[in-house]
Amino acid sequence: MRGQVPGCTVHTPTTLIGALEILFAEKGAWRPLAGGTDLMVLFAAGVLPFSRFLNLWGLDELRGIETTSDSVSLGALTTYAEIRTHPLIAAELPNLVQSAWVTGAMAIQNRGTLAGNIANGSPAADTPPSLLAYGAEVQLQSLAGSRWVPYENFHTGYKQTVMLPEELITRIRVWRPKGDNFHFFRKVGTRKAQAISKVCLAAYARAEEGRVAEFRLGMGSVAPVPMRALTTEMLVQGQAIEELDGQFIAGAKLALMEDIRPIDDIRSTASYRRKVSANVLGQLLEEMVERFKRA
Ligand SMILES: Cc1cc2nc3c(=O)[nH]c(=O)nc-3n(C[C@H](O)[C@H](O)[C@H](O)COP(=O)(O)OP(=O)(O)OC[C@H]3O[C@@H](n4cnc5c(N)ncnc54)[C@H](O)[C@@H]3O)c2cc1C
Repeated sequence: MRGQVPGCTVHTPTTLIGALEILFAEKGAWRPLAGGTDLMVLFAAGVLPFSRFLNLWGLDELRGIETTSDSVSLGALTTYAEIRTHPLIAAELPNLVQSAWVTGAMAIQNRGTLAGNIANGSPAADTPPSLLAYGAEVQLQSLAGSRWVPYENFHTGYKQTVMLPEELITRIRVWRPKGDNFHFFRKVGTRKAQAISKVCLAAYARAEEGRVAEFRLGMGSVAPVPMRALTTEMLVQGQAIEELDGQFIAGAKLALMEDIRPIDDIRSTASYRRKVSANVLGQLLEEMVERFKRA
């Protein structure tokens, strides 16, 4: 049911500097507006506590996917549709493509942005697990300059981030995988499409000389913030592939159940989320072992 939609002011700067000047001059008074797919739902329901929006949509400085030999840098306004259809991302960072495919439907994928997904701060968002698994970094810019923040440090609490009111996310950077690598993404929801996740898990692993040289596990919907499962990561990292047998996997599943901090809410229970996370980890590790043994 809709509440009374309040009046609002939308300002549309034509340059990034213009936008940053406004945010700096009246700190906290303006809310950045990108695709609007999160904000406008709340606005239409009349539950947003502010009514001044800084429309970023026309800022070319926040667009574009740039690649170097080492990294892929995505402009803040990169949409899910752009991620889905980018050949290098599809070839090298498939978890990001899968995150984009499972986010809403086509209309949302054409309009919703990567920066909006993370700035919104939902622990159930679908790109954070992939960004965590890929060790992403976020560029924050204000009139005072810019800084790169490891994405794993970006969320400080439920819907809280390290972003200052005068800062904007300008880019998100991911390092290009090297060597023999493995990628895994799974979203568990009520339905296969158009559902908010009950559990979301993304992993990236690299093997070297018969061992797991790198292993990162990003999780969504199992804590107040998107999180890396660090204890589980440490257990797997450095292990000989040959030793990742049934007994080891059973231990890793128990470790993950301790790592995460799920709650009961309208979508699921903490106990279901623990069990499902563990089972998905089991599948992930089995697939990873098979994949690395084939190499
Ligand atoms: C029908 C529907 C289905 C959806 N399904 C999913 C789903 O399956 N999975 C999922 O994860 N999400 C889903 N969403 C949520 C939403 O589409 C995404 O979170 C989207 O990525 C938000 O991006 P946006 O550009 O629309 O953000 P906006 O609504 O414009 O902004 C969201 C927040 O980010 C801030 N912000 C935006 N850009 C910047 C920036 N550059 N710098 C600083 N702050 C910024 C805004 O101030 C606001 O607080 C759904 C939404 C709808 C309406």
